Amino acid sequence: MKPVIVVHHHEITLKRDNRSYFEKQLMKNVRTVLLGFCKTFVLRGGYGRFVIEEIPEEQVEAIAQRLTQVFGLANICIGVKVNQNIEEFCSVAERLLTGRKFSTIKVETKRPDKRFPLTSVEVNTQVGAFLCVKFGVRANLKQPDEILFIEIVEGVAYVYRSKMQGAGGLPVGVSGKVLSLLSAGFDSPVASWRMMKRGCNVNFVHFHSMPYTSQYSVDQVKQLVKILTEYQFQSRLFTVPFADLQNEIVLQAPQHLRVILYRRFMIRIAETIARQRRAEALITGEAVGQVASQTLRNIRVIDEAASMPILRPLAGMDKEETMHTARLIGTHDISKEPYDDCCSFLAPRNPATWATMGEVVDAESKLNVPQLVELAWSKTTSEIFLVQQLQKEKQVDE
Ligand code: ATP
Ligand code: MG
Repeated sequence: MKPVIVVHHHEITLKRDNRSYFEKQLMKNVRTVLLGFCKTFVLRGGYGRFVIEEIPEEQVEAIAQRLTQVFGLANICIGVKVNQNIEEFCSVAERLLTGRKFSTIKVETKRPDKRFPLTSVEVNTQVGAFLCVKFGVRANLKQPDEILFIEIVEGVAYVYRSKMQGAGGLPVGVSGKVLSLLSAGFDSPVASWRMMKRGCNVNFVHFHSMPYTSQYSVDQVKQLVKILTEYQFQSRLFTVPFADLQNEIVLQAPQHLRVILYRRFMIRIAETIARQRRAEALITGEAVGQVASQTLRNIRVIDEAASMPILRPLAGMDKEETMHTARLIGTHDISKEPYDDCCSFLAPRNPATWATMGEVVDAESKLNVPQLVELAWSKTTSEIFLVQQLQKEKQVDE
């Protein structure tokens, strides 16, 4: 009896036309995760799920846990591979359930391999009856405490219990590329993660005001990118020196418009990067009404600087909801560290909460916009983060 992991696909079944494309990407992503644990393994597809075999027994739990971070999976099950034999189903089921507390059970069999003589209903009944007697429990098909799964396929069978909940969403990579404006705060990492969950490959751009702000906040952003890379396996972070441009705005524009002008420039520079990276949209962590720069009006004025769509996955979220997700995905503890944000550098006391397009256009007419964008872009650097590399670093740390 060998341990196996069975993972079921999430939304893929709904998207008929793209199904094989989605499955291929999902398989590629699962393979990347497995390679982080072992050099060899068997990964097989079909029937809306993958079966993972030939993995080291002592790693099974850790691999299953890691797979809960892979978008596109509905659930992850640990079980064993057995012969197509009802006695074996019973004895394995007994072993899997021994030591667990439950008073009701359901057996769920699938039998794509019709060479097996019993129907799935017959298998359910026979194995179910055996377990009821063995453990002194009752069958309950609606709300069982435990479910035992049996899959009879291609000359073998898989028996497994319980499901770890998968991350859901779509496999990273199937929806194309976006560029996320990432700060060290709580919101933008969560917004980025949400887009990964919708199958996007997320590139990152961070603006810093060094030497007026410290290297520390840039490092914090890199820490965040490392965590987010666990969900998409490979990331690219662009770092833009923003201080010169901010100085120019401070010199030339009215104080109350500074933050909006910073933002409009961020968007323009981000678009230059996005075009170069063939990204389809920009992402920010803005939520309506959260701070002065995020009133509906200011969002609109910021949008006018863009020709690409700006998606704001957190637009309708409360801070509490965002913090909850930040904890779940592992970015919370980094975001909670104090950092000096480039927008608080030279921030006005009373920022405009309801800017008009007219005054913004007027203020920008005193600036050489294309030249400032070009200058910042020419000083932009980029760095690639690979999940394999990060895993090795982690092992060294441990
Ligand atoms: P966050 O928690 O993401 O910092 P926030 O609620 O603090 O968001 P702001 O600081 O006003 O709000 O930023 C709004 C959005 O603008 C951020 O979510 C992020 O997408 C983008 N942004 C802000 N500062 C930067 C920066 N230094 N580099 C890149 N993007 C930034
Ligand atoms: Mg912020």
